[in-house]
Amino acid sequence: MIKRGPANVKRNHARNFIQKQAQARMDETVAAYNNQVQNSLAVNAVQVVLYQVERMIGRPCSCCKTDVRPVQGMAAGVTPTIPQRDRTNEDLEIQFQDDDIFGSDMDDMIFNDVKVIDVSGSAPSGVVAVTTETDFMDSVGQGSVNCGICYRALKQPGYKAYGMHRKVYTHYDIERIEGTHMDHTSMPHAFEQESPDGFVSFKVTVPKYFVSAIYSIREDTYILREKPTLADGKILTIEDLRRHAGSAIDVYVKTERFTHIVFEFDLGVPRLNANIGGETTTLDYDRLQTMSDIPIVFGPEVSDVNEGDIVCIPERNLFLKIRDKERKIMQDQARLEWVCTARVLQPTEPLRAISKGYKLR
Ligand SMILES: [Zn+2]
Repeated sequence: MIKRGPANVKRNHARNFIQKQAQARMDETVAAYNNQVQNSLAVNAVQVVLYQVERMIGRPCSCCKTDVRPVQGMAAGVTPTIPQRDRTNEDLEIQFQDDDIFGSDMDDMIFNDVKVIDVSGSAPSGVVAVTTETDFMDSVGQGSVNCGICYRALKQPGYKAYGMHRKVYTHYDIERIEGTHMDHTSMPHAFEQESPDGFVSFKVTVPKYFVSAIYSIREDTYILREKPTLADGKILTIEDLRRHAGSAIDVYVKTERFTHIVFEFDLGVPRLNANIGGETTTLDYDRLQTMSDIPIVFGPEVSDVNEGDIVCIPERNLFLKIRDKERKIMQDQARLEWVCTARVLQPTEPLRAISKGYKLR
C-alpha cells in the first residue's frame, strides 16, 4: 500500500544564512562561466566585426520623408485614421440622410461627440497639413528604399561598429560646398558636381588613439574609387589623420556624384570573438550560405545585441544578420553570454557592403 508523504518535509539544516550562502556560491560562478565562454571562444571562434543598428538615435535619413509638418489645431482625442492603400473605394459615394437623426448641424452629423477640426482655412491658427498622394505613399513606404546610408534604419548613421569609431558624413555635415549642388529629389540626397573643380568638404573628427582607418566615398549603395583629399588637392594620408588625432581635419571630396563618405577608425580594441554554430556541422562554406538559421554565440564583453545587427566575417566573406537573440544573464544582470540566431545576407543585399572600404595609407 502506498502512503502519501508528510505535508512538510523536515530539513536537516536551518534556513538561516542558507540562501545567502547559496547566492554567494551562485555569484562565484559568474566569473568562472565568463572565463569558460571566453576560453571556448578563444579556441572555437572566428573574429568578427559587429555592426549594431541604431534606430532610436541619429538624424533622420534623407531616404525617407520625415519632415512632415506637425498637424496643428488637432483636437485632443482624435486619432488620425490611415486609410488602407489597397482599398478601392473610388466609386463609393457617401450620402447623408436628410433627416435629423444625427443631430441638427453638419458637424454633429459627421463627428458626433468629437471636437471638429476646421479644415475650411478660415480659422487663424488651424493649419492642417495637406497630405498629397505622393507624400502619403512615401511615408507609408518608409524603409522600402534600399538606402545605402542607413540601410533602412531611417536614421543616420544607422549603424555603429563594435570597437571602432565609425563616422558617416552626409548633407548634414557640409563644411564648404563649391561648384556642387544638392540633389534633393534623390533618396537619399546626393551631391552633384556642376564643374570639374566642384567640391564638398567635411570636418572629420579623428579619435585620439587609433590603429588604422578605412574610408569609402559612396553613391548610395555603390562604393566609388575616388579618394578624399586635403584643401591643397593632395590625397589624404594616414599621416594627415595622425597629425590631427584628437581633433578634426577638413577632408575634400571631388567627384561627379556621391551621397556620403564613411570613415572607420580601428581603435585597437581586441577583435570580437564569436562562435558560429554552423561551422562545426558544416565544413563547406557554400552550404553554410544556404542555411536559414545559423546560431552565433558572443561573449559577455558585448553590451548589447539586437535584431538587425550585422556580423561580418571578412576573412570568409560571410555576412550575417541577427534575427533573434537571447541574453543569458544572472539575477543581478551579470552577463554570461549571448545566444543568437542569424541568417546569411544574400549577394543582392546592400548591407553586405557596410564594412567595405579602402585602407588609408
Ligand atoms: Zn536612409
